[in-house]
Amino acid sequence: MEELLNGLNESQQEAVVSTEGYIRVIAGAGSGKTRALSHRYAFIVNELGVDPSNILSVTFTNKAAHEMKRRVKKLIGGEQDTGFIATYHGFCVRVLREDIHRLFYPKNFIILDVEDQKILLREIFEEMELKMNDKTFKRILDKIGILKGNTHYVQQMILRGEMPNIDDAGDLDGQIIQRYLKKQKRVYGLDFDDLLNFVFVLFDQYGEVLEKWQDRLFYIQVDEFQDSSSKQFELVKKLSDKHGNLFVVGDPDQTIYEWRGADPKYIVEFEQFFGDTQTIFLKQNYRSTPEILSLGNALIQHNYFRVDKDMNTANPSGVKAIHYHGKDEVEEAKWVVHRIQKILEDQKAELRDIAILYRAKYLSRFIEQELIHANIEYTIFGGFKFFDRMEIKDALAHLRMIAFGDDLSFSRIINVPKRQIGKKRMAFLRSRAEEENLTLYDALKKYSTHDRFKRTGADSFIQAIERLRKRRSEISVSELLQEALQLTGYEAYRREDGDQERLDHLTELLHSIVQYEQTLGEDMDLEEYLQMISLYTDDDRDDQVDSVKLMTIHTAKGLEFPYVFVVGMTESVLPNVRALRARKERALEEERRLAYVAVTRAERELYLTESEGFQNGGQKKYPSRFIFEVEDDLYERIGELDDALIEEAKEYIKASHPGQKEAEIEGYAKGTRVKHPVFGEGTIEDIDENKNTYRVFFDGMKAPRPISRNFKKLEKVED
Ligand code: ATP
Ligand code: MG
Repeated sequence: MEELLNGLNESQQEAVVSTEGYIRVIAGAGSGKTRALSHRYAFIVNELGVDPSNILSVTFTNKAAHEMKRRVKKLIGGEQDTGFIATYHGFCVRVLREDIHRLFYPKNFIILDVEDQKILLREIFEEMELKMNDKTFKRILDKIGILKGNTHYVQQMILRGEMPNIDDAGDLDGQIIQRYLKKQKRVYGLDFDDLLNFVFVLFDQYGEVLEKWQDRLFYIQVDEFQDSSSKQFELVKKLSDKHGNLFVVGDPDQTIYEWRGADPKYIVEFEQFFGDTQTIFLKQNYRSTPEILSLGNALIQHNYFRVDKDMNTANPSGVKAIHYHGKDEVEEAKWVVHRIQKILEDQKAELRDIAILYRAKYLSRFIEQELIHANIEYTIFGGFKFFDRMEIKDALAHLRMIAFGDDLSFSRIINVPKRQIGKKRMAFLRSRAEEENLTLYDALKKYSTHDRFKRTGADSFIQAIERLRKRRSEISVSELLQEALQLTGYEAYRREDGDQERLDHLTELLHSIVQYEQTLGEDMDLEEYLQMISLYTDDDRDDQVDSVKLMTIHTAKGLEFPYVFVVGMTESVLPNVRALRARKERALEEERRLAYVAVTRAERELYLTESEGFQNGGQKKYPSRFIFEVEDDLYERIGELDDALIEEAKEYIKASHPGQKEAEIEGYAKGTRVKHPVFGEGTIEDIDENKNTYRVFFDGMKAPRPISRNFKKLEKVED
């Protein structure tokens, strides 16, 4: 117990020991929310004697889940199954593995990522003799996404065996989509949208399934709750209905997925959904220097829709944040890299202590060039997906072939290396498979002695797969992969190819599997591994290597680094051009929250950089408004940014401002009784015109709090 509460402040301890009921923790960045969450999990296991299989702990990324498992295992020790520390999608996979048979799918369904979806579509285009390009792909995938915005299609297709109603069924697109859905069902493939939708339908249609999961999950906790979508919220709400134990943590100021359906109202208006709730605030920041913290606070105060939090820190004072202004992108990148070298030399920092963040991926290009030039090791997260690499997909297709024998994997590897099974023979297999309702692999097995397959590699392929299927129960997944690549001749083929990088990637994959085996225990299940890995994105990659990390701000969520560079702090980049064009305060606020997430990743030193020149569209570049929104004395300025340019920039920014804000402010007078969604009722004691805040004394609180006058949800109490 000591161990669990040590190293936590009083409010965090309260969060840890508050195990029963509906509880939310609202707190700013770096206040130890995630830490409290891990300790709470361990507390429930160690002190309440609850088995980890009865606790669902939802994280935002697979990487975060991995990290939490590691931490929790340290606290609870040993070999316990922490499989319910997962993302929403990961949890859905667990549910479906147990119960999907009710929807007439096998438990070894496969998970389709965008690449797999494209393969299915490509087949359809070929069958229909249509031309395709990236644009058509995207259009169709978007339409499929819209269809899957709700669960009607699952009910129609799976439960009633009908084709779903598609608005434009008569159109070509409609026909393509129908074929796609059929194909998808044929391979028992589920895409990411399906995972949640299928679980919803299961829970809706089969009360006993829902009840089983409700019974099982005594405790549910969610990290980064501010970015939960309505579906995700519904899911945890449903699941917690029986035991009534739901614990969520989040920071509404860090909602950065509104564009994808996230809605901070679930945390802000938590009590409206559950009635009797408890709220805990964490006020102390442990991550950053006071300089960085003040900058973050000063920035986010400009948001209109927010709950004000006064954060403080006991961390020792550090250096001011630096705003660097360069003449062009190259100069900006050179300066950043130069500074990194200086940090490495002067501060004995390691490469892994440094992160470079940006709003848009293309911004990494200039930085990369300079890093390469300076011979500095770096890793890009969320660039080209590791798991999308040809050789990695091939290798995993071998494993999938062994486990699932699905058509997608078969088509992928049957002719790599060349086995003389080209288009014609494949067409033959396809037609046999369709007619006799076989998988392609089973069709090949059936017809391999057929004349058609003489002098092809069909036999040796079948032998290899059959042998591997036997070996599967005898050896670990990593060993199985090694054997598979040897037996099928894939590795030899890659060696002949002479592309060392591909071979290195295969080794990296093997290493990552070994690591999995170490965390999850020896008998990691092949099917489960494959299903989990399908959920992985590049952001989840292991980052053991000592290198500078480059990533988008979205990817950096929840992480922290001693030295942080935010590059491309330029109008139309951050805030991005779409937000500006929309001329909506809300869109701009999401951008400001992104900037806030970026700056609050920094522990020791923070650099915001931008440069002159022209945007892609030929538009002149100016420093981001977010830089000007923060008082000058919170920065040290480097670079030639003269007053004339600053004036010009400010004019430019003013012209593109949404401008609706002032009109919406309706002030309250001193003495007004008000109601706040989180703090409850209170009285306005005073108004600070400069800071544009009210001083509100909330009933039951020890001291008054500043609340932004822009905060819309501060309502007047009518008497
Ligand atoms: P974010 O909003 O960015 O996700 P968070 O609130 O989840 O941040 P954590 O990542 O849990 O914050 O904690 C930030 C840092 O502070 C971590 O390095 C953590 O180990 C440390 N920390 C948290 N609580 C304490 C504490 N009571 N004493 C010392 N260090 C702490
Ligand atoms: Mg966190």
